Amino acid sequence: MNRTATVGLANRIFRSLHFLPVQRTGNITSLNTYRPLTDSFGRVHTNLRVSVTDRCNLRCFYCMPAENVQFLPRKELLSFEEITRFVECMVRRCGLTKVRLTGGEPLVRHDLHRLISQLGSIVNLRQIALTTNGVLLGQQAQQLFDAGLRHINISLDTLDREKFKQYTRRDNLDKVLAGIEVARQVGFPSIKLNAVAIQGMTEEDLISLGQFARDTGIEVRFIEYMPLDADQSWEREKVLYAAKMIRILSDGLCQLQPVEKRQKNAPAQSYEFIDGRGKIGFISSVSHPFCTQCNRFRLTAEGKIRNCLFSHEETDIRELLRQETAEDQLIDRVMQSVSAKKEGHEINTASFLQPERPMYSIGG
Ligand code: SAM
Ligand code: SF4
Repeated sequence: MNRTATVGLANRIFRSLHFLPVQRTGNITSLNTYRPLTDSFGRVHTNLRVSVTDRCNLRCFYCMPAENVQFLPRKELLSFEEITRFVECMVRRCGLTKVRLTGGEPLVRHDLHRLISQLGSIVNLRQIALTTNGVLLGQQAQQLFDAGLRHINISLDTLDREKFKQYTRRDNLDKVLAGIEVARQVGFPSIKLNAVAIQGMTEEDLISLGQFARDTGIEVRFIEYMPLDADQSWEREKVLYAAKMIRILSDGLCQLQPVEKRQKNAPAQSYEFIDGRGKIGFISSVSHPFCTQCNRFRLTAEGKIRNCLFSHEETDIRELLRQETAEDQLIDRVMQSVSAKKEGHEINTASFLQPERPMYSIGG
């Protein structure tokens, strides 16, 4: 075997062991240290949420303003190549294993399947997932699957057309339902539904969504309403807590029982109906924050690192990506953000201050 082939083989072995990553700089091959993204509380960050756009084709009242939304100019968005370069570096040098694409609505970003393919070629990136409102899923599901996507979360708060219009300010329920059906037919092995749980609103949708979970086998997950709405009208009294939802579903459909968590840092606690038909998840970000187990960080559409949804600080990496800066400088910048991560989101403290950026603009 000649020298180049030997170095190539060594590179592949080291990278697949995820042990001592190797970077090629010009024609010099240098060994780079492995730098896990550990914060000051010992949490290791292996899970990245990437927002690909802040644009959206819905206007959910708990997320976006009704009108006059100021979107980022297109030139400010990271390109697919910039996102891929960043993710590849994080995987190889920092042990990132999972990426979720989100937004805004990720499927309004032209040719999203190209990004999925690019990410799919990154060695040791174990999972690529997508969160979508499902409106464009019918058109794109096959293309996304062919590009390598396997995990989809679809957001749907109600099965009632009038309520859907009221919640999202758009008349698109049929498209979302069709999108879910196409995704099932295409054969995605992991499809979940997400619904925001709001007191005085979601109670009426619980039974029909629970029944949907039982009929389709798709897990429906209820996310406690968080203070990330554009109108800043969140109030604690508006949060519908998991405990109450479990009572309503158990009384109205069938007794729910908790399922043992397979991953300790999964935010959702799953329950199953005791007759074995259907699963429901609860993401109790307000009543039972999972901050102590949090392994997530975020990249906004315009290239800012956020160490928490509720953070008030961001760290810009776009210019570093555009200048093709040395990797260690990029990692230093990410570490700077991760190191500053607080112990928890503090929603339940008197000093809590809602972040200025609402959910759609951060990337939920
Ligand atoms: N547009 C896509 C969608 O709706 O799935 C992806 C982005 S959206 C911001 C991601 C998730 O955040 C959705 O499941 C949405 O329901 C959830 N979300 C938005 N605002 C929220 C809030 N104030 N509290 C809790 N969840 C929220
Ligand atoms: Fe758009 Fe998703 Fe926000 Fe609804 S929750 S407005 S679909 S970004």
